[in-house]
Amino acid sequence: MRRVHEFSIAEALLAQVLRHAPTGAQVREVEIRVGALRGIEPEALQMSWEAVTHETAVAGCTLKMDLQPWTITCPECGRSWTSPIPFVDCTCGNTAPAPVGGDELDLVSMTVDEEET
Ligand SMILES: [Zn+2]
Repeated sequence: MRRVHEFSIAEALLAQVLRHAPTGAQVREVEIRVGALRGIEPEALQMSWEAVTHETAVAGCTLKMDLQPWTITCPECGRSWTSPIPFVDCTCGNTAPAPVGGDELDLVSMTVDEEET
C-alpha cells in the first residue's frame, strides 16, 4: 500500500510546516530532502501533499522534493559512488557492493509571503 505510505509522510510534513509557519503568513513553497531508504515515489507524495493541504492554511503550496541517491561502496576495491538504484555492479567486477541510503526526511526550506504590517 504505497499510497498510504506517502500519505502518512505528507501528513507528518504538513504538521511540521504548520508548526514552523509564521502566523498569518502565506506559505508558497516547501522544500524537503528525502533519503533513498524512504523509498518515496515523487508522484504519489505530490498527490498526497495536495490532498492533505487541501483547505488548510498552506493550500496551494508547492512541494519541492530533493531525493537523495544511494551511496554505493565496494568492499573489493573501495570505490564509492552515488546511484539512483541500490543494486548495481562495481566496475571492478564485484556484483555485490553495499548500498547505503539515508532515512532522512528533512524540511530544508520554506518560502513565505509575510503580510506587510
Ligand atoms: Zn569494486
